[in-house]
Amino acid sequence: MITKSEQIKQTLNQTRERRKSQTCKTYELKFDKSHMSTKKQHFFKMLFIEAKWLYNDILSTDDIFSFDDKAKVTHNLDKNKQPVEHKLTSLSSQMKQSLVNRTKDSVKALSKSKIKSNKVGRLKFKSSVNSIPLKQFGNTYKVVDNNYIKLQGLNKQFKIHGLGQIPSESEFANATLVKRFDDYFLYVTVYQKKENRVLSGEVGLDFGIKNSITTSDGDVYNYDFKETKSIKKAQKSLSHKKKGSQNRYKQKDIIAKCHGKLNNIKKDAKNKFVSKLKDKKLIAVQDEQIAKWHSDRRFSRKVQHDIMGGIISDLKKLSQTTIIDKFEPTTKKCYVCGNITNITLKDRIFKCQCGFEMDRDKKSAIYILLKGKQISAGRRNLMPVEDLSSFSDCSAIADKTFPVKQEATICQSNLTGKQKPRALASGSSL
Ligand SMILES: [Zn+2]
Repeated sequence: MITKSEQIKQTLNQTRERRKSQTCKTYELKFDKSHMSTKKQHFFKMLFIEAKWLYNDILSTDDIFSFDDKAKVTHNLDKNKQPVEHKLTSLSSQMKQSLVNRTKDSVKALSKSKIKSNKVGRLKFKSSVNSIPLKQFGNTYKVVDNNYIKLQGLNKQFKIHGLGQIPSESEFANATLVKRFDDYFLYVTVYQKKENRVLSGEVGLDFGIKNSITTSDGDVYNYDFKETKSIKKAQKSLSHKKKGSQNRYKQKDIIAKCHGKLNNIKKDAKNKFVSKLKDKKLIAVQDEQIAKWHSDRRFSRKVQHDIMGGIISDLKKLSQTTIIDKFEPTTKKCYVCGNITNITLKDRIFKCQCGFEMDRDKKSAIYILLKGKQISAGRRNLMPVEDLSSFSDCSAIADKTFPVKQEATICQSNLTGKQKPRALASGSSL
């Protein structure tokens, strides 16, 4: 006879084994609101309102970790700070449990961060909760067919878009119910068999101000999504609406929707760029100082509308991506001779003492690629300055006919007293 706990252990082990040959993917599915009955709409509305009540009630208790996740009533304060009781009727017990656990996890994460002596705030009361975790596929949510799913708590089918894109042999795991503006989404995590992709080619990427992205092959991508006219118009109209009025709320919704549309366009551009690189054997990027750009007034507006941050974080998730340290002087340093040349934002062409000339962004991208190759070759610590050139067999710079090593030695001996220690110092960090 096998006991129940042993049985659970066994299935857990089996799952772990299976996961080794699988990859994890998340799909965004959108609920069809056009045919949704009022009952279903009310159900959705109440789910998120109750989630808010529950969340705020958890925060108001003295000891969060002893909060009863089977609570059927929440205790909140109304507009006038008077205590009120709310009945939870739509949230299922498993939804409540995962909401409570999620809040506990946030508190734990905060205290962990505090131990590391980071500045830590407190969790704040919320005016809305926009996501509800759905654990255990088959209990909290069920897939009926290619168009319909069921949610725990209401014995009805919901029409949903996007189920067709999930391959039939996928294994469903957790999901999250999300409310965004006026729409409802289900983010489903599924496990699929790993496909064996053949990786080939190498690329270095330079992220810049003038051109958003320049590749080591010399391709230039410009992503600059400015606020559309409709957003500006909507924002202007908001300033004429009376504070606290219903119209102001409505206007805020309109603005949020406009931003949502713009975000979708950005996301699409980002995904397209990243998927183009997925088959590369090596992707080298520099850990850009986007935070620094934000603080610099000259750039902040442009960077804000850009998608570079998203692209970098997506690339970081790929195993073939090599990150170059952000202090590496990829713009100033010549990869032929290792010499440092100060270059202003206006200069579009990089000119080195050694005679080497190239478009500044492409040069940086190639530098980043060479450095990435060096790092992935595991030769981080023993490189003298000019040895980046030993990696310059890449096709991107093959057309440059430079007497590489020779030039390098000339450059070194030509260094003035002021430049020498700097060049050497950065060289030793290679
Ligand atoms: Zn040079």
